Amino acid sequence: MNNQIMKERWRDSVQGNYGQPTIALVHGNGLEVWDVEGKRYLDFLGGIATNVLGHAHPAIVQAVSKQIATLGHVSNFYSHPQVVSLAEKLQALTGDNLARTFFCNSGAEANEAALKLSRLTGKKEVISCVGAFHGRTMGALSLTGQPEKRKRFKPLLKQITHVPFGDIGAMKAAISKKTAMVIVEPILGEAGVVVPPLGYLKAIRELCDKHDVLFAIDAVQTGMGRTGEWFGFEHEGIRPDVITLAKGLGGGLPLGAMITLGGAKVNFAPGDHGSTFGGNPVALSAANAVIEVIEQEELVARAKVSGDAIKQTISELPGVAEVRGRGLLLGIVLAADIAKELQIALLKAGLLVNAATQNVIRIAPALIVTKEQISEFVEIFKVTLASVQLGSHG
Ligand SMILES: *Cc1c(COP(=O)(O)O)cnc(C)c1O
Repeated sequence: MNNQIMKERWRDSVQGNYGQPTIALVHGNGLEVWDVEGKRYLDFLGGIATNVLGHAHPAIVQAVSKQIATLGHVSNFYSHPQVVSLAEKLQALTGDNLARTFFCNSGAEANEAALKLSRLTGKKEVISCVGAFHGRTMGALSLTGQPEKRKRFKPLLKQITHVPFGDIGAMKAAISKKTAMVIVEPILGEAGVVVPPLGYLKAIRELCDKHDVLFAIDAVQTGMGRTGEWFGFEHEGIRPDVITLAKGLGGGLPLGAMITLGGAKVNFAPGDHGSTFGGNPVALSAANAVIEVIEQEELVARAKVSGDAIKQTISELPGVAEVRGRGLLLGIVLAADIAKELQIALLKAGLLVNAATQNVIRIAPALIVTKEQISEFVEIFKVTLASVQLGSHG
């Protein structure tokens, strides 16, 4: 078995929507993964901000193994210990015992749930941001503010307005009593780790209060401690009406959630929404384990310390214009449009990262990343960036 054969088998059997991956991974441990040819990689992408505890974390392995051997799936006709435990944990983390969670299987589904919920206000207009990513299903894609991803799939949902991200004046001009919901990412993830000016979320909160609008925060990528706080909006001390989560929530198992907070004016009633797999005991057992480990090992605080260390070292490298983001969601902004080339060179050098845009490398390593692994990352990044820069100057 080798990477080339795996690439051909993928090409001949899997839909072309992801292109053709050049390597096939077979096992992992912490921040390390190995491909079919036995080559080792340092994983600084974490399955796109998902493997918060890295690969094969013993707590997840144990929880999931025990759960699948005990009770694998029951549907939402029945309750089970994992679902109430996780919903209660989310209440504790949001500091709100009026929080109510709907479980689903992905980020797109969490945002679909929020979108449906917004209709219960009796209003239809929704505001999201240019550049924002909220998922690929038709409702979530309607919220997503990226023309390239939308254009071949129109018509999408009407009555959704996209305003420039970080621009409170534009938000103010768009919002009215007719607005049902505003949905915002605290940091644009897919668009290249774009951080809005401080005060942005707070100003939106005030506008939503004034116009009686639901404020939804899409924390799918910025949740679960990634930004150095449990949810990516906490640094502004605001409370949204709705939080959507996925990615890191299941620590690598498919899981999403939509949480309404205490003040939410609307909630689902019986029959309004559902998902067969939503709340699946196995996926939830992983999430319960993830939260316990993050708390025990104080990984939220550690994400901030680790992220700050990476930011400081990498931003000093020649060819790096800036490192933006919070905690362990970072966008390394390059001085030239060589992100794709660099990503490929880094893969060869044994480091997994993502070229989010032409000039931004996104990293989102597991929160358990060690000092030694950060040093290894910096070393590989430094050497590889220098050689790619040399190459691109002929
Ligand atoms: C990844 C992502 C989504 C979509 O999640 P899926 O699980 O891929 O459907 C939605 N919102 C944000 C902010 C994301 O980063």
